[in-house]
Parts: sequence; C-alpha cells; structure tokens
Amino acid sequence: MIVGVPKEIYPGERRVALTPVVVPMLAKAGLEVAIEAGAGTEAGYPDAQYQEKGAKVLPDRAAVFAQCDVVVQVLCHGANDKNGASDLALMRRGQLLVGFMRPLGSAEAVQQLAQTGVTAFAVELMPRTTRAQSMDALSSMASIAGYKAVLIVADTLPRIFPMMTTAAGTIAPSRVLVIGVGVAGLQAIATAKRLGAVISAYDVRPAVKEQVQSLGARFVELPLETQDAQDARGYAKAQDEAFYAKQRELLGRVVAENDAVITTAVVPGKKAPVLVTADMVKGMAPGSVILDLAAERGGNCELTQPGETVVQHGVTLIGRINLAAGVPHHASQMYARNLTSFLTNLVKDGKMRSAESDDIIRDTLLTQGGEVVNARVRESLGMPALAVASG
Ligand code: NAD
Repeated sequence: MIVGVPKEIYPGERRVALTPVVVPMLAKAGLEVAIEAGAGTEAGYPDAQYQEKGAKVLPDRAAVFAQCDVVVQVLCHGANDKNGASDLALMRRGQLLVGFMRPLGSAEAVQQLAQTGVTAFAVELMPRTTRAQSMDALSSMASIAGYKAVLIVADTLPRIFPMMTTAAGTIAPSRVLVIGVGVAGLQAIATAKRLGAVISAYDVRPAVKEQVQSLGARFVELPLETQDAQDARGYAKAQDEAFYAKQRELLGRVVAENDAVITTAVVPGKKAPVLVTADMVKGMAPGSVILDLAAERGGNCELTQPGETVVQHGVTLIGRINLAAGVPHHASQMYARNLTSFLTNLVKDGKMRSAESDDIIRDTLLTQGGEVVNARVRESLGMPALAVASG
C-alpha cells in the first residue's frame, strides 16, 4: 500500500502530515510513502530527507491522489473550510483518507466527502483510551497551541511576565488567567509558569483542580453546581443558559484581576460557550490581553473576531486560529507519529482491517461506500440513523 502526503493548501498552513523519520516505521508495516514535492519544506523537512529515508517524491497533488491508496493530510476538506473542497474532485472511491475533517462541524462537508466514495477517518473522533493515546492528534495539536498561545500573549502584553527586582525598582509579575484546563490549558499554564507569571485557572470540570495545583497555579473555584460536568469520554458537557449566566457573573471579578486571559473552553460538536462578555472586557485594565483559543468555534469571548486581532475598550483581543500551524516543525513531528501509530493499527498484510474488529477504527471511520457511516456524527449532525444491514 502507498501512503501519499499532499502539500497542505489551507492559507498559512505550514505543517505536513508525515515527516521523514516515520518513513522507515511505515515501511516496516508494509506501507510505502510518497510525498508531493515540497510538502514538508515549510515545516523544515526538505524532499531530500524523505528520499533518504526511502520515500518517493511525486511532482504534484493530482499524482498523489491518483497513485496512492491512502492519502494523509493535516487539514482535509471540512477542517479546511477555505479551499479544501478542491480536493473532492481528486478523491477516488475506496481510497483511504486520514486527517482533521471537523466531523461534527458541517453536515454538508461530511456528505461531500462521503459522495466521493472515499473511506475517510477523522482524527478528531479518536477514542480517549489508553491504547489510542499515541494516535491522539487533537491532544498533540492542543499542546502546541497552548504553548504558542502563551508566547503570543507574552509578546503582545505591554508588561513582562516575571517578577524582576532591579536597581530601577521591583516589577510585579503579570497575572494570567486560563479558562478551560484541558490539554491546551494545561500546557498554557506550564508555559506561563516557566516565564514567571502568576497563574490562576478555572474549568467547569472539578477533576482538573489537582492538575492545576500541581503545576503551581491557583484553581479558581466558583460556587456553581458542577457535579455533572464531564461525559464518559472526559469531555465537558454542555450546560444550560442559566448555568452559563451565573458562571459569567462569577467569573467577571476574576477576569478583572488579571492582565491576560487565555480561554480554551470548548464542548465537542457545539458552539463554544461565551464566558467573557463585553462588560467583563470593559472591566479589565487598559493594555490587558485576551487570547481566545476557542475562536474557531465561535469564541469564549463575546468580542472575539475569529482570525483577527482587535482592540476594544483598551484590551487586545486575539482571535488567531490554527495556532499549531505556527510551530510547524514540532507540530508535524507529533502529528506524523500520531498518524503512524494509527496507520500501523489500521492496516494489516496490505489491507485495511475491518471496523468491527477494533474500536479505534470503528470510532474514527467517518465515511465509507458513499455514506456517512459514523453513528455519533450522524446523530450530532441530525442525520437519520443508518439502517443496520441485515443477513
Ligand atoms: P477540550 O478541548 O474539549 O476543552 C477544553 C477545556 O474546556 C476542557 O477542560 C473543558 O472541561 C473546558 N470547558 C468546557 N466548557 C467550559 C465552561 N463552560 N467553563 C470552563 N471550562 C469549560 O478538552 P481536552 O483538552 O480535549 O481535554 C478534556 C479532558 O480529556 C482532559 O481531562 C484531558 O486530560 C482528557 N484527555 C484524555 C485522553 C485519553 O485518555 N486518551 C486524551 C486527551 C484528553
């Protein structure tokens, strides 16, 4: 089987799906690799490095789709909502496609993928089990985004992060609040800590309190009923509007005490909850910074403009999306390892294993034989359940 890597086409995307180092690992599992010329260049992986490891270099994108049995991408159609649709015409029935597809995002995009006949696997649907951990691209990219978010905030803030005692006086450390302490939030706390900030963090899941404290940050406890905050997969559950209203009221005071706020609060398949209102922004000191990692999902701050940086009430609001693309070398390294783990589990003796045989394959399988076959996705997008094949 040949695994093909086209160059990413989303504007500003510099990652690549496979790196040279995984080529021999895939070869061991019977998978050859072919890359589109220049696919890894912007992430710091020139064609020659792939060739040295035994990969083939193909002249263009069309050749990758035409010659490869499996196509792996970072942002496939769906996750690439700018120009990803241009790949639909290149996809072939029965071809395997693996990457980010934003499967709970748009029914139209998912159906378009299905109509090409590809067997598509969305990495966002990876189960959160110990066995799947090495394949969890969502977590890898969230770690990178959490780290990068802090660097952007530190660079934007008109203050320094650490306490500094100098002959010119003592400077108090910056105060940073992290709202939403999943993988990205934890990495943001760890990074801000290394830079010397004083950190507070809040999450709707009380289970994270210990993790926050073990990183040396203060856990903000709001007097809210959050017993039922987490679903079986470890994700936050959506709450009702009364809960969010109360949460905003209580969070207002905490936000005003901080110089910078990093928000990462998302609920799978739903628009991100608004946790920082315009009034809360007004209550912050001029020069404060909010970076909204949930910008792509509508944003946790009412004033966030996805993809833009704006100043409102003297506060800089950063709505940059796709932050992991800003650290393409290591983001690609991690993603390539995730995909390699996934592919070596998926393929046996040159054939795809059946979805029934493995929960990882079953959960990530999005489309097959012209249909959207993933039950969770069908339900979330309001599509009727598929009839179970009889006999
Ligand atoms: P996520 O990206 O889905 O959400 C980010 C954070 O926002 C979560 O911690 C969530 O609780 C929080 N949030 C949602 N709504 C909120 C609200 N209204 N107010 C405040 N916070 C809110 O989360 P994630 O990074 O995917 O991680 C979720 C959990 O799953 C973590 O505990 C993580 O360690 C765990 N996890 C487990 C595995 C595994 O077992 N294989 C893999 C990855 C993550």
